[in-house]
Amino acid sequence: MEGEEDILDSPPPPGAPTSHLFEVRHTPHSGRAVFAVQDIPADTLVYLGDDLTLEVVLKEYRREVCGECFGYDRGRGLSVRDASVGFVFCSQDCKLKWCERVGELGVKTWTVVQTLVKDRSKEDSDMVDVGVPRPKAKEIRIAWEATTEQAASIRIAREADGDKSTDNGVKVTKQHRKAVQKALMQPISPDIMAFCVSGLLWKHNNPQDWDRFVALADDDTPYHSYDDLRAFTRTYLHMLAICPVTLLPHITPENLFMLSSRDSHNSFGIRSLEDEGSEFFGYGCWPSASYFNHSCGNNIEKQRVGRVWHFRAGRYIKQGDELCITYLSGEERQMSKGKRMKTLKTNWGFECQCERCEEM
Ligand SMILES: [Zn+2]
Ligand SMILES: [Zn+2]
Repeated sequence: MEGEEDILDSPPPPGAPTSHLFEVRHTPHSGRAVFAVQDIPADTLVYLGDDLTLEVVLKEYRREVCGECFGYDRGRGLSVRDASVGFVFCSQDCKLKWCERVGELGVKTWTVVQTLVKDRSKEDSDMVDVGVPRPKAKEIRIAWEATTEQAASIRIAREADGDKSTDNGVKVTKQHRKAVQKALMQPISPDIMAFCVSGLLWKHNNPQDWDRFVALADDDTPYHSYDDLRAFTRTYLHMLAICPVTLLPHITPENLFMLSSRDSHNSFGIRSLEDEGSEFFGYGCWPSASYFNHSCGNNIEKQRVGRVWHFRAGRYIKQGDELCITYLSGEERQMSKGKRMKTLKTNWGFECQCERCEEM
């Protein structure tokens, strides 16, 4: 086992942000953190986080929010629609960029997903799971294990692709085909589907960056409720049943659990840029941005410009100070200490020990 000193000395993980203004160091109590290596004047642009990995535009915003730059026109439908993939775009340019980014396989995958989702109204209950028990690690393992047999049957049916047997000579039976039908009869959770599809397409398109994602702080009980967990295992089987066969090797319980466990404490909300971000369009995971810890008296202001986070010094920062953002999107200014503590504990799983919380 590594001693604490070895951990403190070890180099920053893959995906950590780099700059001549700061460095990422391991700390004894709050994990990895970002520290200024020189004085930084107020308003300095400190970092650009442009490494968006998985991203979700919630279904209710899919006609209003650009699938590429998250542009929004106060709820008006955007002009460039692509009904086959289920996204809208603010311009032809955004559409082209999106197509290029997700690639041919991505376009194919979103097309089959959209075909499945579009004729079925929202079937899952809204995921407001505040205060209900979260599945424990062992229960999560059991739930995923329970999919094994059906998943294996679906894979055989899909890999044979209408033939009587797979390339490996496994004979396709009625039972294999039934497993596909059975999966498709289950309720669909469009937003969870978008989460899983986005994450696995990103993994397929950027295999060299997967370790940046894996290096993030993990949550071994990332599902908000038993319903949430069931929605994920159902989505797994849906994806096996419909996604292009090329993507099938990526669609595994291990990868899907990895997406949830890293997303849990690391994703940022994607909100409207006006009205103090009152519209919550969805969320995404930018690994480099996750290294900035929270403080209720943050010295770094973050602002989203399209798909990129801009990190600016909110005031004069001295060499050696930790660079912190707020996870409470500005609301911490009005919130009581108790409210802040509770929100941070519930949503991000930590006791805030920032200067402002320690003060009183
Ligand atoms: Zn756009
Ligand atoms: Zn605090």
